[in-house]
Amino acid sequence: MNNPISLPSYLTQSEAVRSRFERLKAREVILEVKQLGKVYKTTKGDVTALRDINFRTHRREFVCVIGPSGCGKSTLIRILAGLESHTSGDVLLDGKPVTGPGRDRGMVFQGYTLFPWLTVKKNVMFGLEMNNMGASEAAREAELWLELIGLEKFANAYPHELSGGMKQRVAIARALVNQPRILLMDEPFGALDAQSRARMQAHLLEIWRNIDITVVFITHDLDEAIFLADRILVLKAHPGEVQELIEVPAPRPRSAGQFTSPEFLATKARLEALIHPPQPVAEEEEEVKPHMIRFVNVADNVE
Ligand code: ADP
Repeated sequence: MNNPISLPSYLTQSEAVRSRFERLKAREVILEVKQLGKVYKTTKGDVTALRDINFRTHRREFVCVIGPSGCGKSTLIRILAGLESHTSGDVLLDGKPVTGPGRDRGMVFQGYTLFPWLTVKKNVMFGLEMNNMGASEAAREAELWLELIGLEKFANAYPHELSGGMKQRVAIARALVNQPRILLMDEPFGALDAQSRARMQAHLLEIWRNIDITVVFITHDLDEAIFLADRILVLKAHPGEVQELIEVPAPRPRSAGQFTSPEFLATKARLEALIHPPQPVAEEEEEVKPHMIRFVNVADNVE
């Protein structure tokens, strides 16, 4: 992989950062994506959405995926979820091939996907009851999860009574209640205003710290990716290929104060250079001709 711009060595070579990533990579591999490719067959011909994608995600790792629009981020996460087939390569979860949707993966989408006719608690219970758990046990489980996401007081509310952020908290509880191995999130906070979004990011990190879950999170927001991730998978523009897998050197626990830290700013500069590489400067603009007609008094010269 090419490496057009590096993080300053005082960040990547710091003992604390090095040992954090050594510890992370020593943990078991939960998700392995090998030479993954996806070609859509369309009436206008083949569309290669993903090509030769390779990466591994370790237990309790938080990976963000970023890349320009149309680079295949949604296709990738839908393949990981088993909602879309792939045309080449392998996706292994705990060493087993992913061939369709399964309880070992929880999914949270950008749009609000709660059932509007069910209460918050019934929404969280839904997956458990589908898996044949008795109603009273499912209710107890749902209550635990509502407590974890801080919405126990809203157990009997209906989705339309909740704010966007609260709806997404319920969606997270609903995805986690089945105790998946991995949580797949496709721009889950993309529809929220900036303040709710920041609150949800902090909230998600708190949940992640408290339970044994690995997260793959799609976003196009660089700040969000740096704030959340251990590592960031950067995809190239169409067709999507891995450009880099960046380690985020910002220490944990993360806080809003870190947005201006050297680690944060250096990581952001590096991501920006990868996603928006400097373009060749356009031809010099034509010089203003001295004989141009003037509409002002010559004495009124401006700088
Ligand atoms: P991103 O999420 O990064 O914006 P997508 O995964 O949505 O990218 O799309 C990647 C590429 O695959 C795009 O060129 C898109 O037009 C194409 N694509 C996505 N879904 C389909 C589909 N169902 N049929 C044909 N082409 C598709």
